[in-house]
Amino acid sequence: MSSFTSFEKDQDKSSPNRNIAPITAELDSNQRLSVGGCNLKKLAKEYGTPLYVLDELTLRTSCREYNKSLKKFYPGESLALYASKANSSLILSNIVSTEGLGIDVVSEGELITALRGGVNPNKIVFHGNNKSRKELLLAYRNDVMIVLDNQHDIDQLQDLILPGERRAKLILRFTPGIECHTHEYIKTGQFDSKFGFNHEELESIFIQLKNIQWGKLIGLHAHIGSQIFEVEPHRDLADVMVEALQLGRSIGHPIDVLNVGGGLGIRYISSDDPPSISNWVKVVAKSVTEACNRRDLKLPLLMCEPGRSIVGTAGITLYTIGAKKIISKDKTYLSVDGGMSDNPRPITYQSEYSACLVENPISEKKESFSIAGKHCESGDVLLNNLQLPTFKNEEILGVFGTGAYNFSMSSNYNRIPKPAGIIVSNGESHLIQRRELPEDLLRNDILPDRFIAKG
Ligand SMILES: *Cc1c(COP(=O)(O)O)cnc(C)c1O
Repeated sequence: MSSFTSFEKDQDKSSPNRNIAPITAELDSNQRLSVGGCNLKKLAKEYGTPLYVLDELTLRTSCREYNKSLKKFYPGESLALYASKANSSLILSNIVSTEGLGIDVVSEGELITALRGGVNPNKIVFHGNNKSRKELLLAYRNDVMIVLDNQHDIDQLQDLILPGERRAKLILRFTPGIECHTHEYIKTGQFDSKFGFNHEELESIFIQLKNIQWGKLIGLHAHIGSQIFEVEPHRDLADVMVEALQLGRSIGHPIDVLNVGGGLGIRYISSDDPPSISNWVKVVAKSVTEACNRRDLKLPLLMCEPGRSIVGTAGITLYTIGAKKIISKDKTYLSVDGGMSDNPRPITYQSEYSACLVENPISEKKESFSIAGKHCESGDVLLNNLQLPTFKNEEILGVFGTGAYNFSMSSNYNRIPKPAGIIVSNGESHLIQRRELPEDLLRNDILPDRFIAKG
């Protein structure tokens, strides 16, 4: 069920992740929906569809909420990092860094996007379970924090950094063995995870790294999953991590950073009920503080890495509705001009979304529709059982909660060009991602000479 009835009623403006719509969503007296002070139908006309729309205030409010809560609930130093895999671009690098956040990156592309977007290298953490030499070198040269995920990372860095050169700043990732009630594909905290060292290996890794000249182990990292609606897993995680911190320090490492990862969920449909950002931070902060106090340990710098809960709710995707196919009296498909290439989450994870027409979204007479994408896969359906009022042809549909893991996971399947992206704020809109053209898709195709017809 993904019916979208009201976005004003259950608005919690202090924690954007608890809402379906961006916090600036408003209906005018003619029942037309606007976001960031911009009428969505007009935006669709001006920029074309499909269109990714980002609401600047929702984005900044989420960043500020993490900062404010960390200051309020954690007595030591802290830093929130935006997990840029959720949505990586110059504008996002710019916005989160001007809000004082750092960034976590997992590839050369994400790293250069963060650097060009103005993020301070001291606030960048480089992740990845199979980093290339080139990526490691780029990370090292920019003096960003490098996450040791496995022995291959250790071996490559040892090889790469010559004696006498500056030491790399290292963070050790381990799997804390905590389960989350979330979708199988997005679990990473259990012992069979492909990420990080096993919990039981920690002591031997600490010993192995004890006298290295090429790096300095400054922190520990763990990430237990995504779209999590409970706070208990992170409370337990903090405890496990502080225990590991104590072990590391006892072996002689100057560990002063504890990075608890991300994972806070957002409300995609009305039955989703994630904790607020401040509640999540409070639980993590208290748990780390108490665990340190119990063991008489100096408080580490506390880092967290939210992705989805920073940018998810800030995004809406606008589509134009085209073909209609009636299957039975209970099932009618409406096809839109995008689909799994701009939002692969429904076909990949069976993710659910909320959506509405951008004009008269709450008017009564409702029919139930399945919203199909335009790709050649039967599974390319963005929403099921969406209740919509009776409408004319070519209406604009807005799908909510598409700010995270849509653009960043988008593809050119069926050679569909990627949508344009815009940012809205105070009645102004700006292009942040140019719409791809079919020509762009041919740019890297090569027809070798011998295949070109002669004469
Ligand atoms: C994906 C990921 C995150 C962000 O997760 P969200 O659920 O989007 O908050 C943070 N850290 C690491 C290491 C990740 O892989």
